[in-house]
Amino acid sequence: MEGLEDRTYTADAEPGDHATVAGWVHEIRDLGGIAFLILRDTEGKIQVKFEKDEMDDDLVETGLNAARESVVSVTGAVEEEPRAPTGVEITPESVEVIAEADTELPLDPSGKVDADLSTRLDNRTLDLRKDEVQAIFEIRSEILRAAREAFRDANATEVTTPKIVATGTEGGTELFPITYFGEEAFMNQSPQLFKQLTAGSNLERVFEIGPIFRAEEHNTPRHLNEATSIDFEGAFCDHEDAMDVCESVVKSAYEAVSENCADQLETLGLAGEFEVPDDAFPRLTYEEAIEKINATGELDEQLVWGDDLPTEGEHALGQEMGRHYFITDWPSEIKPFYIKDHDDDEALSTGFDLMHPRMELVSGGQREHRYEQLIEGFEQQGLDPDEFAYYTDMFKYGMPPHAGWAIGAERLIMTLLDLDNIREAVLYPRDRQRLSP
Ligand code: ATP
Ligand code: MG
Repeated sequence: MEGLEDRTYTADAEPGDHATVAGWVHEIRDLGGIAFLILRDTEGKIQVKFEKDEMDDDLVETGLNAARESVVSVTGAVEEEPRAPTGVEITPESVEVIAEADTELPLDPSGKVDADLSTRLDNRTLDLRKDEVQAIFEIRSEILRAAREAFRDANATEVTTPKIVATGTEGGTELFPITYFGEEAFMNQSPQLFKQLTAGSNLERVFEIGPIFRAEEHNTPRHLNEATSIDFEGAFCDHEDAMDVCESVVKSAYEAVSENCADQLETLGLAGEFEVPDDAFPRLTYEEAIEKINATGELDEQLVWGDDLPTEGEHALGQEMGRHYFITDWPSEIKPFYIKDHDDDEALSTGFDLMHPRMELVSGGQREHRYEQLIEGFEQQGLDPDEFAYYTDMFKYGMPPHAGWAIGAERLIMTLLDLDNIREAVLYPRDRQRLSP
């Protein structure tokens, strides 16, 4: 094959065309006198018909001896064939094997033989040849596109900030240390400080979609050690404004998938049940949340003010709410130092979380923009403010009130598609056991 200029995608091959299609050998069905090669490309599949007695032996042999998953191109006449999977078939004039595949495959892309997640991730290229896996990543792409559009509608500028940093956002054990020209540095756990510094400029409203690194020890179905964070920060925003933007980004993602990914939802078996959240997300205070959790009777011990919400508590509340909801007005002591307290009650923070019934999706809040209070916050958290001078100094030069949030892209995808494991929503997950591929 000379190149792909004359290539037709399988989905575009129409009866009456003389076409060249190229892709992978999905399957060969040999019925004796007649045999079919099912060729698969990014758009779908097409049947290639071999009538052994009527065709050149070499042609038949090349086509039917191609091992499954070999890359081939086929040129021939496209004809209507109601019995073919897509209603058309190609009668080949030439077949070329472009890249042969081993006859032993580590996993079966036709999906007839199940593979466990670990085998799938080890052989992700083959795994991605499955329709339902391809569908997840096409939907992921659509969600990120929709998020970008929603941010633009909210007047935010896309930025990217460093991932190699001198100090973490909140310090602590969640950092991966690295060596930077002989000096200790870290992989950034969040763009928090940088996005605030940027929102304090004339850009005012910024967003970033990029990696975050967390050296969390635990292995759970909803934690990665490298995740994709969708971050927003807006000057002259309070926590309510930030929640409004958050709600519109999340809803836009659902709407975009509903409007533009009908085929993928169908492939994933979600066509009938996929729902776009419509009404405003309820906003529960932390106090209301713990009362509701206590009332479910699901916990052995009643929660009291100041407790973090345990996972079982989140689940019990999620079941009861049955939809996305915010938890607002958290106790200041369990929210990070950079979150601003309510002016009329220092024990109460403007921090909020957006919850999906299954898990936390977002944390956000209004930020402490007053220099003295910020320095105090560092000290209360046991952090040395001098190490963060690059950040705190800028608060001396006119830092407007501002607010923002972060959503884990993989958690958004996982909950939107009801995936069991967050690793399904990332191409090459990083977790306690996995550093390659
Ligand atoms: P959790 O308590 O669920 O571990 P967190 O409160 O530590 O999350 P934040 O620091 O608030 O996480 O980060 C904001 C968002 O980023 C989270 O709500 C989540 O969607 C996502 N996120 C954080 N850590 C991870 C992780 N390890 N893997 C995947 N997503 C994450
Ligand atoms: Mg959080």
